[in-house]
Amino acid sequence: MSGILYIVATPIGNLDDITLRAIKILKSVDIIAAEDTRHTLKLLNHLEISKPLISYYKQTEKLKTEILIDRLKKGENIALVSDAGTPVISDPGEEVVKVAIKNSIKVVPIPGPCALITALISSGMEAREFSFLGFLPVNKKEKKEKLKEVSEDTKTLIFYEAPHKLIDTLKEMKDIFGDRKICLARELTKIHEEFLIDTISNLLEKTQVPKGEYVIIVEGNNLSKKEIETNKLNDMSIEEHYKYYENLGYEKKEIIKQIAKDRNVNKNEIYKLFI
Ligand code: SAM
Repeated sequence: MSGILYIVATPIGNLDDITLRAIKILKSVDIIAAEDTRHTLKLLNHLEISKPLISYYKQTEKLKTEILIDRLKKGENIALVSDAGTPVISDPGEEVVKVAIKNSIKVVPIPGPCALITALISSGMEAREFSFLGFLPVNKKEKKEKLKEVSEDTKTLIFYEAPHKLIDTLKEMKDIFGDRKICLARELTKIHEEFLIDTISNLLEKTQVPKGEYVIIVEGNNLSKKEIETNKLNDMSIEEHYKYYENLGYEKKEIIKQIAKDRNVNKNEIYKLFI
């Protein structure tokens, strides 16, 4: 009979944030697959657990998945951990979970710390609905496109970001989202934990050299659907704006009236452009 693959969440800073169940599982499994074995060894030493470790990180995910699946099929129980928090969430693990499910191997989650949830619950931001984006693309163009793609989302937006990219990312967010309210959740569960809640521009003034780990939480777009649509039309050239209504089957007179209304100008000004 196949063994079980446990996906075990570990602390994101404070070593006390490990569940009793996680400790029990780490003690009981045959091997622990870890993103960085040296890092996990520190946690295991702290918990006084001694277990064989195997490395499992992004670059070797495919190869290591085969090895882990083989061992699971032989009946071994395996715990997968990442450097911090919940594996799979912006961390390695997705591949082995998918392949395990395909091979009818039982996958058991052992829940615990996760930076995005830890940040959200103390941010005071709307938490009923939210979109988690993880890390933004490294490529500048793709990063901008991703920000544009989510700029109309009315849900709270949550991002992970490296400290050395924080300032640039905040500037790009301000350009694309406008000066929204955000929360920078820094060094969660650690000694220097803090929640900086303000508009992007105020935080840009205050944040000099960012140190530590950050989660960025951005207030969702609270413009109405109508306002978003009008802003989009106003970003078009006047010709594109005209074409937009023409394609909807509007008559010339009606189009001019509508453009004037969208752009908040006198309709004679628009009329002059189209005679
Ligand atoms: N799997 C992890 C989780 O469950 O949250 C996330 C791993 S991801 C590689 C690392 C990113 O998570 C960091 O760059 C940071 O954005 C966020 N993060 C992790 N620990 C954090 C902490 N203690 N305080 C603030 N952000 C943290």
